Amino acid sequence: MASIKEIEKKLAKQFEKIDDIAFFNQKKVLDAFAECKITTQCFAGTTGYGYDDQGRDKLAMLFSHVFKTEKAIVSPLITCGSHAISIVLYGLLRPNDTILSISGQLYDTLYDTLFGKDNGSLENFGIKFKQIELKNDNFDKELILKAIKKYKPKVIFVQRSRGYTSRKALSIKQMQEIFAEIKMVKNPPFIVVDNCYGEFVEEKEPTEVGADVIVGSLIKNPGGGLAPTGGYIAGTKKAIDMISTRFTSPSLLLEVGSYELGYRMFYQGLFLAPHTVAQALKGAMLVGGVMEEKGYKIIPSNDEQPDDIIKSVVFTNEDELVKFVQLVQKISPIDSFIVPMPWDMPGYNDKVIMAAGTFVSGASIELSCDSPIKKPYIAYFQGGLTYEHVKIMAEHLNKLY
Ligand SMILES: *Cc1c(COP(=O)(O)O)cnc(C)c1O
Repeated sequence: MASIKEIEKKLAKQFEKIDDIAFFNQKKVLDAFAECKITTQCFAGTTGYGYDDQGRDKLAMLFSHVFKTEKAIVSPLITCGSHAISIVLYGLLRPNDTILSISGQLYDTLYDTLFGKDNGSLENFGIKFKQIELKNDNFDKELILKAIKKYKPKVIFVQRSRGYTSRKALSIKQMQEIFAEIKMVKNPPFIVVDNCYGEFVEEKEPTEVGADVIVGSLIKNPGGGLAPTGGYIAGTKKAIDMISTRFTSPSLLLEVGSYELGYRMFYQGLFLAPHTVAQALKGAMLVGGVMEEKGYKIIPSNDEQPDDIIKSVVFTNEDELVKFVQLVQKISPIDSFIVPMPWDMPGYNDKVIMAAGTFVSGASIELSCDSPIKKPYIAYFQGGLTYEHVKIMAEHLNKLY
């Protein structure tokens, strides 16, 4: 059995690379704070309509500077990532339009938004959906360009992270290549990237390589573990203006929206996010390293540069998988005495087991793990506010398997 110290030594090079990226992104975020002239007055809460809510407006401006976009919507009134993605799609698409996913199926919790019967789904509104599978974990350029010619989609959709699939996340380089091709089409479609779990993992974000819109959750990477709720949507002025009509209403756009508790946690969370993401990335590599030593397959392998904060661990049976998820809960600061079990959850098709003994309920930038109970038995492990916390997990794992 290799000791944790030995595994850490083997990962020294990868850790250094992660630290370099965090350093680069910390500067990027710090520069944005200066450019936007953030002051403590931005933290103040507002009530009611929230007209002239400076904290809200400056926070949106800050995100658009960090993500190099013209405009952004950042709000605690966006309830989660799936909600943020729905707002984007309803904002950009009209009856008879087509959305073309070029990274295979969308995240499980979007199924009813796309295809639900008589529930106000996109399909109900006459919006068509086409999907192209990835080929060897990359975009299938030929099929994509053909499909764009044939269907003339209004929106091209990319899911950067892996979701509940056994693929790897998509890299910025892969996106850059395909986006350049898509942009050459006459009247190019909006390129929308579900950026969940991808923020600050690389030096660039998808909007820096051609995406029109990126969208994500504030209880994941960009909330830095401090944001208590919310979501963000950042992109071109044209796209964000259309999306604003759905975020509030066509008559209200971005003029309204209050939050009485104030915005400090959102600002401070964004400031911490590059570091927090690095902690999570290193933790995931260490846990992956332990499991690899024990003979389990991990995705991506530790030789590869990560493109999201998840480490998939592939088990051979349900019991081993459940044991892993239960350990995550057991070593969590909150609800450590609760034993999670596989359960039916809204929005998911299979039974799911989840561990999230987190300060912010369900926050998966904190140490957490979830897994649908189906073959191949994959635990999706992510987060950790401090590397040291994840290291404790690794120590336990070393004894457990
Ligand atoms: C988390 C996530 C979402 C949104 O999930 P919520 O639980 O609604 O915040 C969407 N896509 C991906 C890839 C995700 O990881």
